[in-house]
Amino acid sequence: MNPTVLLIEDNPQNRYLATYLLERRGYRVVTAENGPLGIELAASLAPDMILLDIQLPAMDGYSVAQALRRLAPLRTTPIVAVTSYAMAGDREKALASGCDGYIEKPIDPISFVDQIAAHARAHAANGDPA
Ligand code: MN
Repeated sequence: MNPTVLLIEDNPQNRYLATYLLERRGYRVVTAENGPLGIELAASLAPDMILLDIQLPAMDGYSVAQALRRLAPLRTTPIVAVTSYAMAGDREKALASGCDGYIEKPIDPISFVDQIAAHARAHAANGDPA
């Protein structure tokens, strides 16, 4: 079965591009346009990986990551932050809130899926079942 990626992203163009790139490589993609919906979908779908925009309305990606980690089935699911924040410390903040990795926007269409796959491999190599 193809791996399922949950993409939590409020920007429609970013959702479209990431979905297109992932589906083209055989991933199943489910999208959420805000944090609460993303958390609800994550709980019901148990995706293989979560791509998480940090700049989201109302509930930012850091809070979403923390909430996801409180759900037992999602404790070891790879969560990769996708953000355009360039300020120093944001990467550390994403990792501290429960994300496993970090991809910078703008999305590079050439390397995006390979970057995600590399995060998944690194995560698996660390011994987590997900
Ligand atoms: Mn955003």
